[in-house]
Amino acid sequence: MKKNEQYEITIEDISNEGAGIGHLQTDEGGLFAVFVKDAVPGDRCLVQLTKVKKSYAFARLMKLITPGEDRVQPLCKNAARCGGCTMMQLSYPAQLALKEKKVKDCLTRIGGVPAEELDAIMEPIERMEIPFYFRNKMQFPVGVDKDGRVQIGFYAGRTHSIIDLERCPIGHPVNDCILRHIRPVLQAEYDKDPNLIYNEESHTGLLRHILTRVGYTSGEVMVCFVINGEPEEFRESLRQKLADALQAAASEVVAGGGLAVTITGVSLNINKEKTNRILGDRTVTIFGADVIRDTLLGVEFEISPVSFYQVNPVQTEKLYKKVAEYAGLSGGETVWDLYCGIGTISLSLARQAKKVFGVEIVPQAIEDAKKNARRNGIDNAEFYCGKAEDVATDSHGTPDCVVVDPPRKGCDPKLIETILKLSPPKVVYVSCDPATLARDIKLLAAGGYRLQKAQVFDQFCHSSHCETCCLLTKANDSAD
Ligand code: SAH
Repeated sequence: MKKNEQYEITIEDISNEGAGIGHLQTDEGGLFAVFVKDAVPGDRCLVQLTKVKKSYAFARLMKLITPGEDRVQPLCKNAARCGGCTMMQLSYPAQLALKEKKVKDCLTRIGGVPAEELDAIMEPIERMEIPFYFRNKMQFPVGVDKDGRVQIGFYAGRTHSIIDLERCPIGHPVNDCILRHIRPVLQAEYDKDPNLIYNEESHTGLLRHILTRVGYTSGEVMVCFVINGEPEEFRESLRQKLADALQAAASEVVAGGGLAVTITGVSLNINKEKTNRILGDRTVTIFGADVIRDTLLGVEFEISPVSFYQVNPVQTEKLYKKVAEYAGLSGGETVWDLYCGIGTISLSLARQAKKVFGVEIVPQAIEDAKKNARRNGIDNAEFYCGKAEDVATDSHGTPDCVVVDPPRKGCDPKLIETILKLSPPKVVYVSCDPATLARDIKLLAAGGYRLQKAQVFDQFCHSSHCETCCLLTKANDSAD
């Protein structure tokens, strides 16, 4: 198989990055995987190989011969170019089926859970009723095109070229209004002073990103301008014009249930590094409050611009409810919530437990967690800053339930060892990466834990990602 050759193939699967995957038969009778951007499972298409490796190749979609049954017209006109939603050309039910299949495949292939056993214990994927307008956090890169027009939008898939965005159907609608109102302000200022907008290649210019966060239950919106400079370089006159534009934008929308949307805080984040990281280490508030409020399962949280907070509040409530169900608390238990972020899981469980301990590596998040406990009058939750694998040791007694919610790389092996040594009756594992989840489940299984229940949650509709919640118990204990 060589570059530029053309083949007809049928797409069978989709990669994490959203490319369609089909197979070609090699002369030796083996299967050769072909990744085709913009193709979806079920498509029969003519492709041209663009890059050929030993056992796989990348190809361009030349002609769609027969569209797959699940192919749909995406709601967003930028879907093909945007690096965010990689599956919008696939119907929502087909997206859900693929996510479930991906988790099942990982749990059987990597986790060693027999497929029949999995079929019996897995609950159907938790879908969104309306898989749009759900994201509470958006980050828009800012740049200028070759004609001097200010662009605020998104990076085209796998590149750093910025495409201007009119509307994004997965973010809160206030974002579209914000972009529409601040674009002319930035354009007028840029025409007077070209140094206003950041240029990634030359690492010059000031404004690099605009971040927004919306509290869906409070209607509060915070906007953060990420700048390559000191706060005073973001001039007072510009601040005022932007603040006016933001207020005008907010007045155009209402949140769910007729709740008014208000801009409650504007901040500057200082990032002078030549880096792909969006946020720098310093944030200063220039208008209003430095946090927004949001409520999950009756607990009110204050969230600062840089803290980790789940991006889909509707699905997060469902996920945390499932964590509580799997934990099955009756009031007398001690629970560890490892990788706790700002304490959202800890605090949503605290009222059903005797004591909750949260552990998290980011100091600011732990500060937020402690404040959030106080705000809600919860006095049986304690929070510790450090690595979960170092803080959680057998010197802290044996918990009745350990909840882990690690980042994509999964739990540290040392933590798995500690869990096995302590042998809590229940482990609830929340994961954003099915491969590392399956790896860890295998380790826990080797130590006597058995997967009792599992459910996939569609937190990131139209992308290939999902969350999975699992209950594991010691093999000789029952699930309830
Ligand atoms: N449970 C929280 C956060 C989950 S995200 C929620 O639902 O909102 C994973 C968290 O793990 C992040 O906050 C990250 O900062 C933290 N983290 C990453 N590595 C860690 C480690 N080794 N020990 C403790 N926390 C860690």
